[in-house]
Amino acid sequence: MINCLTNAHAAPETLLSETRYVTKVQARTFEKALGIATVADLLAHCPRRYEDRSRVLSPCEWGDGENAVITGEATAVRRGRSATGKAIVTASVLCDNERVNLLYFGQRYVAAQFERLIGERIVACGKLRKVARATYEMDDAEVERAGTDASSALFGRIVPIYPLAAGVTQRAVRMAVWRMIQGGAPLCPGGATRRERPSQLDLMPLHEALSEIHYPSSTESAEKARRSLSFEMICGRNEELLKARPHGVRTPYVDGRIASWVASETRSNLPFPLTRAQTRVLAECLADLTRERPMNRLIQGDVGSGKTVVAAALMLAAVRGGVQAALMAPTDLLAKQHGEKLNSLLAPWSVPVTTLTGSTAPQARADVMRRLALGEPLVVSGTVALIQERMQFANLGLAIIDEQQRFGVESRRALREKGTSVDLLVMTATPIPRTLALTLYGDLDVSTIDELPPGRVPIKTHVRINQDREKVYSALKTVLDRGERAYVVCPLVDQDDDRADMAAVLSLAEDLSNGYLRGYRVSYAHGRLHARDLEKTVSDFRKGRIDVLVASTIVEVGVDVPEASVIIVESADRFGLSQLHQLRGRVGRSDRAGYCVLISNNESPRSVDRLRTLGRCSDGFKIAEEDLRLRGQGDLEGIRQSGVSALPLLRLPDDIDLLCAARLVFTAERTQ
Ligand code: ADP
Ligand code: MG
Repeated sequence: MINCLTNAHAAPETLLSETRYVTKVQARTFEKALGIATVADLLAHCPRRYEDRSRVLSPCEWGDGENAVITGEATAVRRGRSATGKAIVTASVLCDNERVNLLYFGQRYVAAQFERLIGERIVACGKLRKVARATYEMDDAEVERAGTDASSALFGRIVPIYPLAAGVTQRAVRMAVWRMIQGGAPLCPGGATRRERPSQLDLMPLHEALSEIHYPSSTESAEKARRSLSFEMICGRNEELLKARPHGVRTPYVDGRIASWVASETRSNLPFPLTRAQTRVLAECLADLTRERPMNRLIQGDVGSGKTVVAAALMLAAVRGGVQAALMAPTDLLAKQHGEKLNSLLAPWSVPVTTLTGSTAPQARADVMRRLALGEPLVVSGTVALIQERMQFANLGLAIIDEQQRFGVESRRALREKGTSVDLLVMTATPIPRTLALTLYGDLDVSTIDELPPGRVPIKTHVRINQDREKVYSALKTVLDRGERAYVVCPLVDQDDDRADMAAVLSLAEDLSNGYLRGYRVSYAHGRLHARDLEKTVSDFRKGRIDVLVASTIVEVGVDVPEASVIIVESADRFGLSQLHQLRGRVGRSDRAGYCVLISNNESPRSVDRLRTLGRCSDGFKIAEEDLRLRGQGDLEGIRQSGVSALPLLRLPDDIDLLCAARLVFTAERTQ
């Protein structure tokens, strides 16, 4: 599971059922409910948060309603019923001359447990309520005999709160971990750390971190332990990535002659001159292709910066070099659009371009598969259909993944493994802040297209909070009357009673065509449509047979209709900033001015501020950083999918220093 942790324990692979940390029955539930089978699994099951129970006071010293820890003698147990007939067990605890009644509703079985404790000193923890002079109550208190193994794990210290699953209690996990840590087995043999740990990070030795993450001696220590383990995990993950890198050497299919031919052809035979940034990135990629070590590169460039044409030039080089080139995109729509685009871009050199998606007709599919299996040098644009097991490439040389943030590391590997020593290029527009891209993609070389094609007029973004929508749509009519087109994006496809405040594609399309936009051609697109219908609608929109396309976020990635000049986002507060930036990238794709209107009914200052950020800022990378700061890593799709989920202890953006330091360690190791 987590390498650095498994290596740390004396016998990490020991099954829990063979230890004394849990009963046999518990061991089975741990495995079934939480996937914890071994000692290492348990060690890696880190607390979600902590509860500070380090102080034990007498009841009167706690404030009313505070989460309190008290100690006293268990004196009596009563079984009763509430007014509504529910069973209540009341256990009394005498703390000097104050009384605390512990109440348990509908849990008859606790009565017997308390009977065994009568006359003994116990510790109890729960929310304390004052009910009369010197009399208090606690609901569902956690209780333990004072002075036992368990009481030191549960009281008088900072206590861990673990993620749970059905059938496993908080107490069971706490006790198992406590016994493991108390068990004396060294968590880290010899207390050795395996690698250089940059001193400025102020990290703990691994064995200490492993014990402090579970039962910390102070809040600061818990945080330090979290960062220490997080650093180990990042390094572990970087090692994994290093292993996943293409290995070995090959004979390049592109030599210097082909590389300079491609560079000069793309100067003269494309519909437009490449920007300086495109030219530079293309040169970096072409240089990769001529090396013996396969290419492993990320191109990042803001929406509309023109990544596709760079990919096309590289595919031209591949086919010229006699190999097959595949471009994989996240949606059918985008894969087909790329197919058409590549077809026209590569027409001057008569490069064969094919398309393969889930909706390709059987006969066409069989034809593509046959040509790929025979080794014909060609370009194929497709979806995950390309990495299905039955797909065989006889001669795959170059694999490109577009909108890489939509795929996992697995798909990357799967496409590359359709050939031997395949050159891999991944492309992304979003939404990873530059600092993170360098570190999260620790294994990739990075090229950045940091310039937009000339003549782009910046998109004007308007934020409309709780304002007259009719005004927005009547302004839209003026634009439509000039022959331009518009997208209207909604967070939902179908109306939903639980989310009644959110706009939905189907109902809005209907409302608009019968209301504000009567007389205009309004249609809709969303992911639940049949691929063929979706394609027809988008193609009608492209050809100008539709004026307004009401759509879900299906249009977020890649859809390229240069005549569309306005995008209206309804319930805009429901989208992430990077997502909105990506959406507005659908317009302003020509020299015509682009407009983006963000409509929201959410008046909270936070939400309004967030949307205004977009009005101020047009740099996708800055926006991603802002989004990260405002929403945290959990909500950032690009970051989530870039493999941070394998780093549960990482907190962004605070831990960026850990990522950077780990990258340095990693590059040092790589060059050794
Ligand atoms: P993205 O980087 O978002 O994938 P695209 O590759 O879809 O961007 O390019 C956006 C648009 O810009 C396309 O219509 C493309 O034809 C056009 N384009 C790309 N490069 C240039 C250029 N150097 N000059 C003019 N237009 C360009
Ligand atoms: Mg693109």
